[in-house]
Amino acid sequence: MDNINLKAYAKINLALDVIGRRPNGYHDVRMIMQTIRLYDKVNIKRIQTNDIIVKTNLHYLPTNENNLVYAAAKLFKETLKIKDGVHVNLEKRIPVAAGMAGGSTDAAATLWGLNEMFETKLTLEELMKLGVTLGADVPYCLLRGTALSEGIGEILTPLDNAPPCLCLVVKPPISVSTKFVYENLVLDSNIEHPNIDGMIKAIHSRDLLKVSSLLGNVLESVTLQEYPQIKQIKDELLSLGATGALMSGSGPTVFGLFNDKKLAEKAFYQFKVGEYGKQTFLTSFYHPKSFS
Ligand code: ATP
Repeated sequence: MDNINLKAYAKINLALDVIGRRPNGYHDVRMIMQTIRLYDKVNIKRIQTNDIIVKTNLHYLPTNENNLVYAAAKLFKETLKIKDGVHVNLEKRIPVAAGMAGGSTDAAATLWGLNEMFETKLTLEELMKLGVTLGADVPYCLLRGTALSEGIGEILTPLDNAPPCLCLVVKPPISVSTKFVYENLVLDSNIEHPNIDGMIKAIHSRDLLKVSSLLGNVLESVTLQEYPQIKQIKDELLSLGATGALMSGSGPTVFGLFNDKKLAEKAFYQFKVGEYGKQTFLTSFYHPKSFS
């Protein structure tokens, strides 16, 4: 196989809790992850020279080792001692630096694609072990679907599929530094921790209203104060009929869940014509079987 096309899907967090800080700066988390139907396109071509060439439609993204696609290809080639090179074309559609694991999912798709292309037959677990060295969310982006993520993100437990629903994603044009958010998180007794175990039960019983009522992200304690737009978007989604709304990851993306297609479409058009229109997506939960 000399050419492979992959879809690298985005995630949202239905719940995100931080339960501790490690001396090395990493955080222990408990997160409920969910794949959504919004993806980057990754095309990988085998080339004869020992090079890694990355092209992307976003001029401001790096195409060197600072791009996670490049880093993933380099790691794979070195670990598996692959002599051939690769040309990767990355079509970004997932908002960048948005809390949707855009870079991690591109890295996951690249690892998976190269394992197919070079017939190296690594298992999913082996790919995940390789992936976590690139980023904490990469193992989940290989697994996908509904999952509990613990440790720094490397301990994954697949869960029942979350109940089907529409998911309206709105990314305001502000840059939120993940580092800033985690550094300013105060893990004291005032903090409201999401009920992760309750969320797992609600997912298991396929109860969308319960899932919606349990949406929670401890990082909002930092971002909602710092960026009032995030709270405004949440409020607007709820007033437009979302059953629940939450910031994903460290933000600034906000999503609203809808069990009514008409309301979801109306809300989508409302946001589309507004100031956040460029980065508004009407999507749904997804449980992909493969990367194609
Ligand atoms: P997470 O949810 O895992 O915190 P994110 O969605 O907030 O991730 P990304 O979109 O992965 O953030 O991008 C974060 C930074 O990583 C960007 O500023 C960008 O320069 C860099 N980056 C490297 N490779 C990629 C890639 N393939 N796609 C997007 N960003 C990338």
